Amino acid sequence: MDNPLNPLPESVGSAPQFTQINPMPNSQLSSIFAHIDHNRQSFIDRLIDYVRQPSISAHGIGIAEVAAFLNDYLTQMGFATESLPSAGWPMIYGRRDDVPGAPTLLIYGHYDVQPPDPLDKWISPPFEPTIRDSKLFARGVGDNKGQHFANLLAIESTLAVAGKLPCNVIVLLEGEEEVGSPHIAEFVRNHRAKLNADLVITSDGPVHESGRFCIEFGVRGIISFELRAKGANRDVHSGNFGGIVPNPIWTLVQLLATMKNDRGEVTIDGFYDNVQPPTELERKALANLPLDIATAKAELGLSELDQPLERGYYERLSLWPTFTINGFHAGYGGPGTKTVLPHEAFVKCDMRLVASQTPEELYAKVEAHVKKHAPDVQFVRQGSMAPSKTPIDSHYTQPIVAAMSVAQGAEPLLVPAMGGSLPDYVWTQILGVPSFVVPYANADEANHAPNENMELDRFITGIRTGAAMMEYLGNL
Ligand SMILES: [Zn+2]
Repeated sequence: MDNPLNPLPESVGSAPQFTQINPMPNSQLSSIFAHIDHNRQSFIDRLIDYVRQPSISAHGIGIAEVAAFLNDYLTQMGFATESLPSAGWPMIYGRRDDVPGAPTLLIYGHYDVQPPDPLDKWISPPFEPTIRDSKLFARGVGDNKGQHFANLLAIESTLAVAGKLPCNVIVLLEGEEEVGSPHIAEFVRNHRAKLNADLVITSDGPVHESGRFCIEFGVRGIISFELRAKGANRDVHSGNFGGIVPNPIWTLVQLLATMKNDRGEVTIDGFYDNVQPPTELERKALANLPLDIATAKAELGLSELDQPLERGYYERLSLWPTFTINGFHAGYGGPGTKTVLPHEAFVKCDMRLVASQTPEELYAKVEAHVKKHAPDVQFVRQGSMAPSKTPIDSHYTQPIVAAMSVAQGAEPLLVPAMGGSLPDYVWTQILGVPSFVVPYANADEANHAPNENMELDRFITGIRTGAAMMEYLGNL
């Protein structure tokens, strides 16, 4: 393996270039890597013990036991710990201020897991961890126990070798991420002083689908809403009343047709007003992401991707908002025919928002559009989450890239934003600090699905990565 520090690997020629960071001033990191290698089996055994304990937030099963285990573990490692009450399951909080003046890293993760059903689709039971093909199969191993446990073992390994951490560290482990983090925003607002970090790192989700490790700099936001149209006070005969009674399905079809054109552009006034063009670094990062459009289309059974085709594949997943009709419910859909003129119709929609757009702004624009084009249609808000973005040229990107290169053997891909939505805005908007998602799990981790798994090598690489990130942040 090339030494990624000197110089960075050739294969990343088109990636954004970060000036070379100084090589590590001492050999502490190699001693820590050696410690991790030496303890590989015991770390895997401890992960097995951890994922054997269910902690299903949706059903309230096992939460208290796992929260107590984590609190004890952090305490044993010398953290000032608190199990902070929130309106829901407890937040596990620990803090070590080892190096006054050095950056303070907040490591976020979640100790709750998804319910395991359907149980009959699991090859081995979800809470009886089993190794097959160098992967550990268990509910929660990828999402998120194997990932934050890797970061905790990185702390433990660093302390074992060096006796102290190279930067200050806050650990925050949530117990209700899998039920939508209903209290995290309020919690962060109420505990700003305890959470006064310089940056946040979350290890969750899969690596890039190509298998390459990556840093994700943000997420898209989301708004969900419903449009409801009403006609007569009951369904009527399409012959006896057709031509007289208005049809709410046509009302919604015509309204929807005013909201997006046949080129795929959303035609709601002001919809794109706050969409920022990609920065030069974002363009380069997007261009560097591995892509095989033919395979992607074949895998989806598509001959063409959605419009507008001139926008790049990853650009539209990261940097453009969307308007999706999730479902349209009305009238008769059974066998044969039914000459009915329905009296109501509903459409459910979501929009994915990009940085600088806000849920309130988009709700207001859609609502104004509906009022103008179909004033009798009811517009119902159904929940939202703000987008989040950290600039690629953040002060902390370079040390994280350097740390990942050293720990993983190749420079990571840089993903300007994930297509999906997570409450990352609590860090970037409420705390006001940069936030980096650094996933360790394999792309086929099957999170939220039967046979969830994590490659054991990636778990170990995650421990190395956590240790290297603290080391490089401490050397800033
Ligand atoms: Zn999850």
